[in-house]
Amino acid sequence: MNKVKTSSEKSVSANSRTKSLLSQLEKINLDSVLGEADNARYVTSKILHLVQSQEKTRKEMTSKGSTGIEVILSTLENTKDPQTILNILNILIEIVSVGGGRRANVLVTKGGTQILLQLLLTASKDCPPNEELMVLLHTLLAKIGPKDKKIGMKARINGALNISLNLVKQNLQNHRLLLPCLQVLRVYSSNSVNAVSLGKNGVVELLFKIIGPFTKRNTSLMKVALDTLAALLKSKTNARRAVDRGYVQLLLTIYIDWHRHDSRHRYMLIRKGVLQCIRSVANIKLGRKAFIDANGMKILYNTSQECLAVRTLDPLVNTSSLIMRKCFPKNRLPLPTIKSAFHFQLPVIPASGPVAQLYSLPPDVDDVVDESDDNDDAETESEVETENDDDKDQHFKNDDIETDINKLKPREELGRPIEELKMYEHFFPELSENFQKYDLISKEPKPFVPDANLGGPIVVPTAGEEHSAEAKQSTKGIALKESNPLLTEEYNRRPTFLELPKKDSIKDSGLHYQNDQRNLLPSCQCLSQEIVKGLDRISLQNNGKNDQYYVTGCVIKKESRTSLTPLPCNKPCEHVSPCGSSLLEGSPVQLGKLCCTGVDSEEEDSRSSSSGEQVVLEVSDVSPVHDCDLYIEMVKTTKSVPEYSEMAYPDYFGHIPPPFKEPILERPYGVQRTKIFQDIERLIHQNDIIDQVVYDLDNTSCSAPKKAGVLKFNSKFESGNLRKVIQIRKNEYDLILNSDINSNHYHQWFYFEVSGMKTGVGYRFNIINCEKSNSQFNYGMQPLMYSVQEALNSRPCWTRVGTDICYYKNHFSRSSIAAGGQKGKSYYTITFTVTFQHKDDVCYFAYHYPYTYSTLKMHLQKLESMHNPQQIYFRQDILCETLAGNSCPLVTITAMPESNYYEHISQFRNRPYIFLSARVHPGETNASWVMKGTLEYLMSNNPSAQCLRESYIFKIIPMLNPDGVINGNHRCSLSGEDLNRQWQNPNPDLHPTIYHAKGLLQYLAAIKRLPLVYCDYHGHSRKKNVFMYGCSIKETMRHTNVNAASCDLVEDPGYRVLPKILSQTAPAFCMGSCSFVVEKSKESTARVVVWREIGVQRSYTMESTLCGCDRGKYKGLQIGTRELEEMGAKFCVGLLRLKRMASPLEYNLPSGLLDIENELIESSCKVTSPTTYVLDEDEPRFLEEIDYSAESNDDQETELADNMGDYEAPDQEDGLSDSDSTRTLVS
Ligand SMILES: [Zn+2]
Repeated sequence: MNKVKTSSEKSVSANSRTKSLLSQLEKINLDSVLGEADNARYVTSKILHLVQSQEKTRKEMTSKGSTGIEVILSTLENTKDPQTILNILNILIEIVSVGGGRRANVLVTKGGTQILLQLLLTASKDCPPNEELMVLLHTLLAKIGPKDKKIGMKARINGALNISLNLVKQNLQNHRLLLPCLQVLRVYSSNSVNAVSLGKNGVVELLFKIIGPFTKRNTSLMKVALDTLAALLKSKTNARRAVDRGYVQLLLTIYIDWHRHDSRHRYMLIRKGVLQCIRSVANIKLGRKAFIDANGMKILYNTSQECLAVRTLDPLVNTSSLIMRKCFPKNRLPLPTIKSAFHFQLPVIPASGPVAQLYSLPPDVDDVVDESDDNDDAETESEVETENDDDKDQHFKNDDIETDINKLKPREELGRPIEELKMYEHFFPELSENFQKYDLISKEPKPFVPDANLGGPIVVPTAGEEHSAEAKQSTKGIALKESNPLLTEEYNRRPTFLELPKKDSIKDSGLHYQNDQRNLLPSCQCLSQEIVKGLDRISLQNNGKNDQYYVTGCVIKKESRTSLTPLPCNKPCEHVSPCGSSLLEGSPVQLGKLCCTGVDSEEEDSRSSSSGEQVVLEVSDVSPVHDCDLYIEMVKTTKSVPEYSEMAYPDYFGHIPPPFKEPILERPYGVQRTKIFQDIERLIHQNDIIDQVVYDLDNTSCSAPKKAGVLKFNSKFESGNLRKVIQIRKNEYDLILNSDINSNHYHQWFYFEVSGMKTGVGYRFNIINCEKSNSQFNYGMQPLMYSVQEALNSRPCWTRVGTDICYYKNHFSRSSIAAGGQKGKSYYTITFTVTFQHKDDVCYFAYHYPYTYSTLKMHLQKLESMHNPQQIYFRQDILCETLAGNSCPLVTITAMPESNYYEHISQFRNRPYIFLSARVHPGETNASWVMKGTLEYLMSNNPSAQCLRESYIFKIIPMLNPDGVINGNHRCSLSGEDLNRQWQNPNPDLHPTIYHAKGLLQYLAAIKRLPLVYCDYHGHSRKKNVFMYGCSIKETMRHTNVNAASCDLVEDPGYRVLPKILSQTAPAFCMGSCSFVVEKSKESTARVVVWREIGVQRSYTMESTLCGCDRGKYKGLQIGTRELEEMGAKFCVGLLRLKRMASPLEYNLPSGLLDIENELIESSCKVTSPTTYVLDEDEPRFLEEIDYSAESNDDQETELADNMGDYEAPDQEDGLSDSDSTRTLVS
């Protein structure tokens, strides 16, 4: 107790002492009488003493509200007394030496920099300058410099640059003065204009006099000199100067010297400093050339290999790898042209845009021969001030937000004349149908009761319902276990059992498939010769409407069950393919070849033990809408540009979600580095590289490799898009994807077949022409694989596979002419390693769960054939034909009217419309799986599905871009354009599906039947979870400074209701990722056009992750088709709740409940993303930085990899700042 008291007493006295000294000093300043110098000297020395001895005093001087710093600085400004000046400089140095940067910051904000620079200027006029004063001034400037972003500019304007430089020149042996001067130069050099100016005055040469071979003396001086040099060499002028004087070679020599002598790794920072200098020089082409000429690749490769074992040397390895990647000679892709291997003749060539550009290229100008990127050092002298970088960053985020209120306000006019829109009338027969000829449930006209069926409260699925579903499923889980010991064993080997699906009702709804058949695996019967022969018997036309009610989900004849017995496949199964092709006259559809020879004996056992019915998979997940035979029928009418004649097994067999969890992969440390070093080895050990083309679309004479052990590739089937494969090493392959048709880029989606594998070998696959700058493959996503052997063993499923996965920028690039003017566009590699389980398997790999156009057609046919026509009004129309002549389906779903009594018909016709679409982007297959969930839910017998049908009329275009899907495009249609950027002005000849989809909506607007909700399903490659983008003027204007304009705007916040409902009901949905801001770059997307032009207030894009979830029930899991389909079903359930909320009176809800819900919706404002733009910070950092930025001439390169050694976790405050600012804006 005493102690505490004493110390507090002491501090009181010290405080008052400081205060009184400061006020004395203030008085002296005010009087500024000559002769008071003694007095000021005395007072400042007293203060200095206090500051030196007491932290409390230092604290007090810079505390909030204290004028201590002002008084001190003003004394410094006024006094001429050398000793007072020295006292004050010492006081300031003491103050800023501790307390982090905050105290230095106080000094800067009080104008300290300017006063110190002035003092420096005055002091430099003395001849010779006062050494003590110079040391103190530079020490202080070096300490506050990093806190003053403008110090470089201030120093230059004050003419202070050369004072420090000259001091260095004149005092090379005086280390006491040299060190602080160099520290100040280091600060100045981060400004590029200063760097050029200093460079002209010989600073580069000067610094090379200071740095040198290994010595244990003056290492701190050496470190500062290297840091300064690295900063200076970022200027291209200086870098060129260094190259001209042969310093690249010198730097490498110095590096090797330190590498050899610093055996205890005590000077890691110096070694890193040398590398930083090399890295700076490597920014220019001459520098890279000098590096290669000086054998830099080999030197850094070898030194890195020696550093790998020591974890503390990681920064050296990483910087070396960065330099090597920069200097790795840029190559063009090994292709004759990067334009798609297939060409489709367009009916008209667009007047402008990417396709016009592509068509207007002279024939001899192609990526491969173009040299336009070679003069990349031309703009050496155009270096500009970069001091305002911070401001730039702040503006950057908002650049894309639409700020023109006129572009946000709804447009009034129709867009097309009503006479023209009449052509869409026939797509809406439900509006005129009188049902006189229909066999309705109730034939007797009944008095009309509005929503009679809804009588009581609407049954909205809640946790309770899920619970019961769970209970059911767990019994199913047991059934699975008991019924098939083989499967059980297999699954036990897997990491975990999955709690079986919680899909609402699709299974339970009884889509009316016969019980004894529904559990059969659809794939198996496909292999039976009899069945294949029997295909003709299953004809859609023969299915009488009447008995479709009980048509099974999976048409499998009784005899097919016996045919499930072990396949007698010790010989090649020749029967499959000839049968297939003979069936399909005129249009030979073949199955991919499947060889069953050499089946592992283990496999044999498992097959024979699983005879007959035991193979039957007791999982009700077998999609009731998959039908192999029907799939073949559908394929026959699908028109692809390459005229594919093969089918991929997975599409034919179908897919069942695997019964185990698939966690988001944890990224092992150093995987990227290892991969990059392997890539660099290609250059260093060129003789080890096989470089053998094994698959080539451009060269028809390239036949499949005959050598044993070499993988065979194929993707000549719907949605396939492999263009070329090169064997690099024994078990490593480079894969090149085909561009979207009529385009020379857009590749990310992949789907291909591999065969001829061995077991127990890790095969490395590199897809080397990916385009996105980052990918979820860096954050735990795995590619998908489908094994035909597994499918034959009753496990027809796509599973997440692959290890050592990473995604990084590689050494292939395109010319700027090919990249539409963007310079040096690099490609990215996705690499993964797979070990196959079965010998001679046929395996398929895909970016995401494939869902072909033929699959869609099959699903729609099945849904149509299975539905109960008395209950469900279902129509499948053809919206239009695509460019390639495929039909674009339009589906209408609603409930049949209860009777043909007038009121029932009237209720039927007056149901609000819900308009849905999906798959405008072919690579986003997840959108189709969500759509499948929606369709199946809408067609189900679930009571709430019936409510939903009675509430709404659904107009659905499940695939807006069939041609893109069929031809394996990633982004575009056959016109080489992104169809989701054509909604403003769709061309009927080039973008028919968009033109007519928009026409339908315009028609609805014209007849005053605007849909309540429009939603376009998409997939998102860079974010987790499922979320929505919507449109709001208010929320858009909040992100601009034009608040005044938005004040008088009245906007119904109803657009937030549906996403909010989904965030409460759909486990994968995340409100926090939603955004309602309208961006300029999105002005021609479906969502924005349907909102602004058509006038649908609830117009959305729903984005589903390709990867997985980082929150909620599925946290830590990769997403599967089960979750995607569930999302599609939950979306429907959300619409039902939306209806309830939209009409509360109808259901007599207590108003309090609504308030709560509204409040929730209101509160959600705080967490939504400000824009749809994805920042890299969306993902957490890894120990190993995800380094995808090693662009060779990227000036604004991030320092990510650099900061590895001293990386600090971003503090919590930063993390919150975003939502904070949103909150302020909202309030
Ligand atoms: Zn999309």
